[in-house]
Amino acid sequence: MLPKFSKDFINESNQCVSCGLCLPQCPTYRLLKSEADSPRGRIALMNGIVNGRIPLNARFALHMDRCLTCRACEAACPNNVPYGRLIDETRALIANHSKSLVVTQKASVRSVLEKQLLARPVRFDRLRQLFYFIQKSGGLRWLQKLNQLGKNKLFKFIVQLPLVKFPYAGTVDGMHASGNHWREIYPAEGEKRGEVGLFLGCVARITDAATLNSSIYVLNRLGYTVHVPPDQTCCGALHQHSGALKQAASLAQQNKSVFSGLKVNTIISTASGCGVQLLESGVADEHSQIIDISRFLTAAEGWESVEIAPLLQKILVHDPCSLRNVLRDQVYPYKLIARIPGVQVLSLPGNDQCCGAAGTYFMDQPEIANSLLESKLSAAMDSGARYLVTSNIGCAMHIANGLYEKGVDMEVLHPVTLLARQMGLEL
Ligand code: SF4
Ligand code: SF4
Repeated sequence: MLPKFSKDFINESNQCVSCGLCLPQCPTYRLLKSEADSPRGRIALMNGIVNGRIPLNARFALHMDRCLTCRACEAACPNNVPYGRLIDETRALIANHSKSLVVTQKASVRSVLEKQLLARPVRFDRLRQLFYFIQKSGGLRWLQKLNQLGKNKLFKFIVQLPLVKFPYAGTVDGMHASGNHWREIYPAEGEKRGEVGLFLGCVARITDAATLNSSIYVLNRLGYTVHVPPDQTCCGALHQHSGALKQAASLAQQNKSVFSGLKVNTIISTASGCGVQLLESGVADEHSQIIDISRFLTAAEGWESVEIAPLLQKILVHDPCSLRNVLRDQVYPYKLIARIPGVQVLSLPGNDQCCGAAGTYFMDQPEIANSLLESKLSAAMDSGARYLVTSNIGCAMHIANGLYEKGVDMEVLHPVTLLARQMGLEL
């Protein structure tokens, strides 16, 4: 029996006219020089499965797995082929057939992580204190000395993460305070300009609380009240891209009902990968919109009432694929950072190519991911910059890990974190 694809899938894949204009944009095609690892080739393979011309086997899955879902091909396509939807549905099909393919240990670990941790992000809040304690006590470095664990890529990655930050608790007696949970409401300071909802994400609750705290701080200072609903959950991007479409849809439904209960017309996302998923999975209702923090702050009012300390430094801006190829909002981080007096804002050379992080891709396809990362690192090192800003937590961790392994002293952070720091936020 032929594997079942939706009618939309068949129609949308038939939109490809094999012109090849997407090929030069595709990182895997540029690296591997193989048609089967290009967007056009992958769509042809998908069509081969639809028509029963080729078998759904491990070789087919390999070419699909090598795709970064960076969607540079989609941005370049003159025929508007929705490549992102095609690859997601193909991966769901592969996941359903995985019993007949090879079910790797990695796939089972990923499935447990997706179901038990990412889909229940409140567990990250519980782990934060423990992780902080292990970091502070030097426990990770001690564990790293254990031979096998020290060689594990994920472990090496975890060891170099910056010291965990705690959720912002607001200003107490003129000092910035932190706690173990985000408050449900952070009232605006000064003249009131509006109310927004803030999406927290999952992994970022541990690894990038600084960006979430900074967003609240800057929004409050500009006159926006920030609502942080506690029952929000993971955006579901990792589930979506690994073929767990039902689970992704159920997470989207939960977020939709939580945020629609707030009655705000703006939901702010601080990680562009999450922003795309929230947008495309329909989390916003007819009264609201999902918007990236840099875009929102660029258009926000109230800047005349805040002071921003100068910073006489070169700032490199990395464009995440989700921000550039899907949201098409890549200009906003540059505009936001340019608010800091004295900065020299530079685009990271090669911004049109993926850095290789791509969700869990950097662990699943380490050779391709490392090769893509290398060119980012060389460009960053050549620039002589002290800071690199990026709007997606996955890219930030991947690039920071690469710089750390090379011993390069360059701080990687979200643009809003740098801005908040210059506005006086210290936690
Ligand atoms: S640019 Fe679009 S139509 Fe042309 S080969 Fe690529 S996906 Fe197909
Ligand atoms: S999503 Fe990226 S890696 Fe995948 S086919 Fe398109 S350009 Fe290539």
